[in-house]
Amino acid sequence: MSSISIDKEKCKGCGLCVKACPKKVIEISADESNKSGYFVADPVRMQDCIGCTFCALMCPDVCITVEK
Ligand code: SF4
Ligand code: SF4
Repeated sequence: MSSISIDKEKCKGCGLCVKACPKKVIEISADESNKSGYFVADPVRMQDCIGCTFCALMCPDVCITVEK
């Protein structure tokens, strides 16, 4: 199974990874924010990840690492 890890302290909550993911793995958290005050990306459906890396390629802040 593929999975991703997100460096939540670097995340700015822009949502680009949410839009990029074809499997709807990621959502922006409604209640978890980082030290900078951004609501962060959260991989809520990790079991659906296919390791395509679209999310990592899209993230402008290079927060996402994909493990295949
Ligand atoms: S690697 Fe692909 S399927 Fe997995 S979370 Fe990223 S965009 Fe979604
Ligand atoms: S694209 Fe990067 S900065 Fe934007 S919400 Fe996703 S992980 Fe956070």
